[in-house]
Amino acid sequence: MDINAGGNSRDLLKKLRETLAVEGDGQERLDHIVGLVAEHMGTEVCSIYLRRDRQTLELCATKGLKQESVHQTRLRFGEGLVGLVAKRAAPINAADAPQEKGFRYMPETGEELYTSLLGVPVQRLGEVLGVLVVQNKSARQFSEDDVYALEVVAMVIAEMKELGAFVGDGEAMTAPHQRPHLFKGTSAQEGSAKGVVLLHDPQIVVSNVVADDPEAEKERLSAAMDQLRLNVDDLLTSTNTGGQDQKDVMEAYRMFANSKSWVSRLETSIDRGLTAEVAVEKEQSATRARMARVPDPYLRERLHDLDDLSNRLLRLLTGQGRAAGDSVPENAILVARNIGPAELLEYGKTLKGIVLEGGSVGSHAAIIARAWAIPMVIHADPITREALNNDPILVDGDQGVVHLRPTEEVTSAFQDKIAMLTAAQTKYAAIRNEPATTLDGVTVGMQMNAGLMVDLPSLETSGAEGVGLFRTELQFLMRNAVPKRDELAALYSRVMDAAGDKRVTFRTLDIGSDKVLSYMKNISEPNPAMGWRAIRMGLDKPGVMKMQLQALLRGAKGRPMNIMFPFIAQYSEFLDSRAMLHAAIESEKKLGHAIPSEIKIGAMLETPSLAFAPDQFFETCDFISIGGNDLKQFFYAADRENERVRSRYDTLNVSFLSFIELIAQRCNSFNTPVSFCGEDAGKPVEALCFAAMGLRNLSMRPASIGPVKHMLRKANLAEAKQVIDTARGSGAQSVRKDLMEWLKNRS
Ligand code: PEP
Ligand code: MG
Repeated sequence: MDINAGGNSRDLLKKLRETLAVEGDGQERLDHIVGLVAEHMGTEVCSIYLRRDRQTLELCATKGLKQESVHQTRLRFGEGLVGLVAKRAAPINAADAPQEKGFRYMPETGEELYTSLLGVPVQRLGEVLGVLVVQNKSARQFSEDDVYALEVVAMVIAEMKELGAFVGDGEAMTAPHQRPHLFKGTSAQEGSAKGVVLLHDPQIVVSNVVADDPEAEKERLSAAMDQLRLNVDDLLTSTNTGGQDQKDVMEAYRMFANSKSWVSRLETSIDRGLTAEVAVEKEQSATRARMARVPDPYLRERLHDLDDLSNRLLRLLTGQGRAAGDSVPENAILVARNIGPAELLEYGKTLKGIVLEGGSVGSHAAIIARAWAIPMVIHADPITREALNNDPILVDGDQGVVHLRPTEEVTSAFQDKIAMLTAAQTKYAAIRNEPATTLDGVTVGMQMNAGLMVDLPSLETSGAEGVGLFRTELQFLMRNAVPKRDELAALYSRVMDAAGDKRVTFRTLDIGSDKVLSYMKNISEPNPAMGWRAIRMGLDKPGVMKMQLQALLRGAKGRPMNIMFPFIAQYSEFLDSRAMLHAAIESEKKLGHAIPSEIKIGAMLETPSLAFAPDQFFETCDFISIGGNDLKQFFYAADRENERVRSRYDTLNVSFLSFIELIAQRCNSFNTPVSFCGEDAGKPVEALCFAAMGLRNLSMRPASIGPVKHMLRKANLAEAKQVIDTARGSGAQSVRKDLMEWLKNRS
């Protein structure tokens, strides 16, 4: 029977839905479905393969093939035509299947009798859950309508699978989102956390799959589309001030939102019996499958826009999704594909943990997580597909492991670990007010990094001697517009109030690269990390920097302060920045405002070039702070946000350590104080090596001060230096191995 006509198709979908309503186990339902589909499609065979694990399909039901092969026949993704359907996430329509490239004959099924094959993926939101196959003895060429009709059925099966309709015995028939899952990722911030999942972008749950009244569904779709177009127009108006790129994206959105072919494809699916939301999901799955195949980055971006638009449409149709301003639940562990620093700041410090599918250790989102001492695991793929809001979750930031819906045994072992960590904290608290003096009498200054008002109490609890790096850009990232001068002055003043006698080193605005302000003109650069960022922006377009310098001077209210400029790559940039600060001081004086009793003006050394600046730079500069995060990426030419290259190079590589030694010697020869404020300062072994290379000041996130101080107080620095020198002399690439051995064996 031909099911091209929408009416027949709707009839089939209705019957499928009825199988959902009938009490029964998953196997019975699947058996019933294959019978129905074969009858409606007029095929001798209909089979459903479901995914057993990430790479394997299992034959779960069949009409026409040998029953004894059910749950016995398994295929890897890419194996045979069925496996190819799963791998490509696209249909295969073969009139003479045995002649097709990739065909693999499975004797246990008795399929040698059948010639033609049509297989379509059972997929939801781009994730392949299985394959639906029909076969005939004759060399039947299935029509495009047949393919479409089978895809619609597959969509319904996918939604039913998601709703748990096929639960039964065996791996392929487990209920979705219920089993425990272990994700092995990468640690971006140590520590352990127990809590519940908070999805940054929750999946839409569709409970109505099949609709009886296509006209009513089309009306719902049309109303949602109208709303979508209005929203897109609003977005377009509000991005009028944005850059051309942003406008291009919005125009693409508008184009898709008005696309007649998109709407007509959605309406065709509705005519065949799907609800409006499932019709949208069906198109979205096809878009995602295309996205994975399209090599052209521009086209991929446009498909991404369409995907995003589908999400918006789904939210409108279902009324689901997280609204801005929703409160963060207690013990929330944020789960996201990726997140930018501004979005993370919006959630705030109350998060207990962060788990990302993508991400990178060097990103600013990771730096914020570290500043907040929130355990963070990245590369936990594909957690956003598995996790549901409020699922129990354990984050092991030390091992880079995440347990989703853990068993009781795992939870109890985890709790023991948390107890041990608490004991270690008690040990660090005992040395909080002691100096970081090594066994051979060298004292290393311990400062902390900060960026928000909420960080300041850590000055007291961590035992930091001051704030070695105050990242002022976090205030800018948190807002929707450039903060006002008076607001900033008040904030800087409160920061200094909270610091009391301890000195605060404010770094002027460091934006660009991955720190993008949504409200500033977005320029497209081929390589933003090496582009127009930090002081380069401040010097070329000085308006904001001048305002910030004024705010800093006013916030000090006559108290002493340190100001440093980020990303100084050459002496002249330091001189120009300093001149701007001097001009601001003069103008404040003229206005009769108090100026700080002392201002030390420093530069961040974040590019290798500055280490080789003229002597005059070191003489003029009041202090230097090594921004190791950036310095390392430029030293090795390895993007700090690109995990593939970032992790190739060890901080304890002899080249990098020798470079740090050179910087320390150069600064010491001019008596220019130097510190290290990159993330590596907070790692005990790295910190010990930096001290051995001659650095006497380190600035790190507050939670690292205890462990680093503990390490330094137990170490003999001269001995450590000897171990490093011997390793350097041996031709080793990194000193880590020798140093770890020495640390382990020392008495
Ligand atoms: C650095 O680069 O080491 C640094 C401290 O600056 P940021 O991480 O904010 O770029
Ligand atoms: Mg930097």
